[in-house]
Amino acid sequence: MTRQQKQKKIPFFDILLGTLTIVLIIAAVTLLYFFKQKDTASNEPIVINLEDVTSVEEVQASELNGIQVITETSEHEEVPFKLQYPKSEHESFNDKIATYIKELKENYLDEINTSLNTNIEFTRELNTTLELSQHPNGTYSFILSTAEQVGEFEQEIYLKTFHLDNETGEQFDIQAVLDNQDENLTKFAKLAQKTLFEDKMYKETLSGETIYMLTEPVWDNFNEFSFTDEEMIIYFTEYSTSEDSPIIKFPYDDVNELFSETFKLASNDTPEDVEDPSDSDSSPTVKRVALTFDDGPAPQTTERILKTLEKYDAKATFFMLGSQVEAHPEIAKLVQEAGHELGNHSWSHSDLSRASDENITNEIHNTSKIIEDVTGEKPYSFRPPYGALNDAVRMITDIPIALWDVDTLDWKHRNPQQMLHYVKQQTGLESIILMHDIHPSTADGLDAVMAYLVENGYEFVTVSEIIPSK
Ligand code: ZN
Repeated sequence: MTRQQKQKKIPFFDILLGTLTIVLIIAAVTLLYFFKQKDTASNEPIVINLEDVTSVEEVQASELNGIQVITETSEHEEVPFKLQYPKSEHESFNDKIATYIKELKENYLDEINTSLNTNIEFTRELNTTLELSQHPNGTYSFILSTAEQVGEFEQEIYLKTFHLDNETGEQFDIQAVLDNQDENLTKFAKLAQKTLFEDKMYKETLSGETIYMLTEPVWDNFNEFSFTDEEMIIYFTEYSTSEDSPIIKFPYDDVNELFSETFKLASNDTPEDVEDPSDSDSSPTVKRVALTFDDGPAPQTTERILKTLEKYDAKATFFMLGSQVEAHPEIAKLVQEAGHELGNHSWSHSDLSRASDENITNEIHNTSKIIEDVTGEKPYSFRPPYGALNDAVRMITDIPIALWDVDTLDWKHRNPQQMLHYVKQQTGLESIILMHDIHPSTADGLDAVMAYLVENGYEFVTVSEIIPSK
């Protein structure tokens, strides 16, 4: 009996305690809630609505037919701005601009509203300037650059381009500019990559990794561009909001071949209708390609590669490892005697971006020294193992740095036929092709690669003819 009584009592107290606890929690939450309500009601937040921000518009004619420049200046003391943008005779274009301008204002106002409630003084600025230009075919480019600042942080810079065929009212994007779509996008991206790598201005500020990312062959990377009389300009805005976002200027000669009919310029020198495909001398651009061989010299494979190069009377570039030159000095000498260019590929093929300054120095300088001692010639350029670069490697290297834009992946597939596949897919107007003279499969596949390049009008050059000296 006693056991039964005990069992009955405990649930009763449990229920009573549980209920009390729940009541207390509800009471506390309710109280807190009312306090909070009261609190916010007493400090009403300041909110400015976009409708309250009035502005004045100034309209000016522009140098482009049918285009006016609007300068809109805010009259609201708390929300100062000055926005310049184009107005055309085409409604859909004007709508697109209006949407973009509205977005800019809304973002700006959101940030101001947030800062207003902090009771701290803060700077605020929104300025958009408009640049206009025109492709030789008459289509218009509009470049809107915006500087925005709210608070003490760094100013943000946005750039947005718009494009209009004023005759038809049609707008266009990068996909309309390039012919052959993905194939030409790949070539265009390669060209952009090479240009950034060779640009002295960006040498210090852009890492190799950033350049590869910016110039990956996806359409979104090339959304912002403009056309002038002489060149196509690409703006890389996604990379950073700071003022030093990279830009590339392509003279039309460099990219004309990739353009669709609407944007392709007729050559001034050759009348279009007398073009003879068998006469390669009259082709307006010289296509050049640098064959490069890494990780050697190696007995047999390097020698077989030298024979194939000789067959085509071609000069190539050999990025040698110091350790391999030490092991096979006679092969290094053969390469030099055959008139090929010599390059430095470090001593031990380690990832120098992870090495100490001292190791980097030894890897590079000892290799240059042994190459010179053995062949009597200094290497012209340096290719970091794995393409791995950082500021220290850049600083310590005293010769030009040579990467590549066509990767045959010969080390991976070891298949002679596969090399040609990658060469066909990636080779642009001026490319550097990466191969390795230590794999028999590379020696096997080289002939087909060279036959293809010759057939397609490429001239074989060395790396120093493509990249500038340091
Ligand atoms: Zn290598």
